[in-house]
Amino acid sequence: KKILIVGGVAGGATAAARLRRLSEEDEIILFERDEYISFANCGLPYYIGDVIKDRSKLLVQTVAGMSKRFNLDIRNFSEVVSIDRAGSTVEVKNTKTGETYTETFDHLILSPGAKPIAPPIPGLAEADSIFTLRNVADTDKIKAEVTERSPKRAVVVGGGFIGIEMVENLRELGINVTLVEKLNQVLKPLDYEMAQIIHQELNAHGVNVILGDGVDHFEDAGKKVVLESGMKLDADMVILAIGVAPENKLAKDAGLKLGTRGHIVTTETYEVMDGANGEVIKNIYAIGDAIEVRDFVDGSQTAVPLAWPANRQGRTVADHINGIPFKNHGIQGTSVAKVFNKVFATTGNNVGQLRAKGLPFQQIHAHRGNHAGYYPDSTNIALKLIYDPKTLKVLGAQAVGQEGTEKRIDVIASVMKMGGTIYDLQDMELSYAPPFSAAKDPVNILGYIAQ
Ligand code: FAD
Repeated sequence: KKILIVGGVAGGATAAARLRRLSEEDEIILFERDEYISFANCGLPYYIGDVIKDRSKLLVQTVAGMSKRFNLDIRNFSEVVSIDRAGSTVEVKNTKTGETYTETFDHLILSPGAKPIAPPIPGLAEADSIFTLRNVADTDKIKAEVTERSPKRAVVVGGGFIGIEMVENLRELGINVTLVEKLNQVLKPLDYEMAQIIHQELNAHGVNVILGDGVDHFEDAGKKVVLESGMKLDADMVILAIGVAPENKLAKDAGLKLGTRGHIVTTETYEVMDGANGEVIKNIYAIGDAIEVRDFVDGSQTAVPLAWPANRQGRTVADHINGIPFKNHGIQGTSVAKVFNKVFATTGNNVGQLRAKGLPFQQIHAHRGNHAGYYPDSTNIALKLIYDPKTLKVLGAQAVGQEGTEKRIDVIASVMKMGGTIYDLQDMELSYAPPFSAAKDPVNILGYIAQ
């Protein structure tokens, strides 16, 4: 078989490696329009913040290294510009020389990712110190700005994962940071009361948090950020982190079916569909941030731009192409991030989502030590469990604390994935010694409270 892959990072590189492991014979070509493949997107904010000191550590695999190790034909600086579905070919443009050529395929996998949203805010085009963060090139620009121009004041617009990670990393460099968020809370996966702990942590670290306000326009080449409320903020640099949109131009031009927010719609085995008649296109697949996924909790269509789904889909689409069956259980959206000395983690749906869908739920809270209170340095974890009042199945969970926070969410996420109930949480036999937990782990306690 001849298999082409568009996009050489999380989903694309995973698919390529798995495809090769499953077949020595297949011809596998990986196209990446930028310079780097398989880089550590998730590490970029920490390199800017000097936590990761060595830039080369971000480059998980190089073109030469991965080509050799997996016997792949990897072409960077190569943008796939169009798909001819009927002829099973793609047109590829060398982004350095501008030359184009055609490549045939038996199977085509699209993993083009998602791009930062940058709406046409007045004054944005004239600014030279407003940045978005997606790839290594963006990172180099921001790193150069903070090292060469030593900004004193930064404004981060958007309190999602990337915004919050940038707030922390810029603040740790000694920069005065203002965070502007349109909603009344940061980190939407958390419910309001859980997000308060994060607001407190941001305040405690000297971050100026402005909630319920958005950017109206920029003045003075981006050095003044004017908010919808009329407030004006001085900014030596601005990070725009207001979310991502699927990279869907290729799919749109090829007439593929897109969802309401522009994500590529796929079958359970990631085949794409015709936009006009919904017919499944058997030899073209899409994975990663660019696609719609099925919500594990209620089966509704959603999008989860995180690394676990992209990696999992990369592996399973390769399995599917090689005739290995797999069950697509949908996506829970399990996530974790660090906010200064706190960790927050979530899985499943939160109360906001369940209310919006009109689904019944019961919620409980618990505050437990991460390990035995009599052992030094125990810290509190605020936990929230959400479950179905009839079936008692776990629908979601959130935790904010320090050490051991994400472990609890990962356990609950596992129980959820197996279709577990609050009784299964009680019955989880988890590891215990005083430095790590209690004989009744916080996960067990949640199950007991819910009973
Ligand atoms: P990507 O990894 O973005 O790869 C897509 C690639 O396709 C890009 O390199 C792009 O250049 C290329 N491409 C697009 N169109 C074409 C074309 N036509 N031709 C050729 N190449 C093309 N997720 C987590 O779970 N945890 C985290 O902590 C986390 N932190 C993050 C921090 C940052 C700063 C960013 C930007 C993302 C983070 N993510 C995190 C999200 C995670 O990186 C993505 O979910 C994941 O990379 C998606 O994989 P993908 O293959 O869909 O897209």
